[in-house]
Amino acid sequence: MTTTITITGAGGQIGYALLFRIAAGDMLGPDEKVRLRLLEIPQGLGAAEGAALELQDGAFGLLEHVEVTDDPAVGFEGCDLALLVGARPRGPGMERADLLAANAGIFGPQGAAIAANAASGVRVTVVGNPANTNALIAAASADGVPSERFTALTRLDENRARAQLAQVLGARVGSVQRVPIWGNHSATQFPDVSHATVDGRPVSEALAAIVGDVPEWLENTFIPRVAKRGAEIIEVRGSSSVASAASATIDHVRDWVRGTEDWTSAGVVSRGEYGVPEGLISSFPVRSVAGEWQIVEGLELSEWARARVDASVAELVEEREAVRALGML
Ligand code: NDP
Repeated sequence: MTTTITITGAGGQIGYALLFRIAAGDMLGPDEKVRLRLLEIPQGLGAAEGAALELQDGAFGLLEHVEVTDDPAVGFEGCDLALLVGARPRGPGMERADLLAANAGIFGPQGAAIAANAASGVRVTVVGNPANTNALIAAASADGVPSERFTALTRLDENRARAQLAQVLGARVGSVQRVPIWGNHSATQFPDVSHATVDGRPVSEALAAIVGDVPEWLENTFIPRVAKRGAEIIEVRGSSSVASAASATIDHVRDWVRGTEDWTSAGVVSRGEYGVPEGLISSFPVRSVAGEWQIVEGLELSEWARARVDASVAELVEEREAVRALGML
């Protein structure tokens, strides 16, 4: 089998970190051939074409074909997996409404081009920020494609949260499970440790022995650390996180296509679960079963957790309203 994968913003930094791992089989496994379509805006074509030359030189056994284009109809032709990475960054003096409008102007037409050109079972993962609302706009513009096929990446936030917990607990990151992200991929996101386990034991017990006042530590240390990790990386590295964002994108798509053993996090369309208004693309605890994300239902939320979820969801509602007010939804 060959899977056709379209990557927008393929000439950018995250695109560059993604392409070689996809071609090496990290996303779909060692038996799945891939056909890559690198979709860029005209200014990004040179970088994407350069990456395509390097992909050739990688001599990847699974890589059937690479095409570089700035035409969305060509870029999404027959696409099974769309990774929407390219987005308009916030420029100097740009208000949030300007940012939402600029990105609505990108993700609306891309949603329409996906509906018109992609394979019938297309799955879309939005990485470009503001990812949740960009996914909402793309889904709303993709007539005939079920909105369940549009998702936003929050896996990097979850990976960061699990890594922070593992470090504090002195545990392997792989032994820390069930740390869902709720809400928006933004500073309001809520990384929830209330159901988390380390080697199968509740994390809260292990944490109490190390940090003492767990609620205080969560509120003032853990949550800000996870939410501001991007800024920390920029400060230390001198530029934004790239490889970890690409790696989380690979995790998200791999789990969506191949299934999960336990919970993870993804921005998926709400059908009203946990009181999240219907139609929003919000992060939830999810499992992937038979190629579909399922929201883990029935979890208890403390009053404090409930308030955190509500605050992040309120931001998503505001973003939706702002885009509606611009007549772009
Ligand atoms: P990056 O590849 O570094 O980032 C791309 C997008 O991913 C940004 O929106 C960025 O958001 C987002 N992102 C999500 N998670 C992270 C994370 N953890 N760390 C960093 N970024 C994250 O940007 P480049 O500028 O290098 O590349 C963008 C490419 O997209 C360019 O080649 C450009 O030509 C192209 N582009 C394509 C468009 C299209 O296809 N229509 C439209 C606009 C641009 P944030 O800005 O918040 O960091």
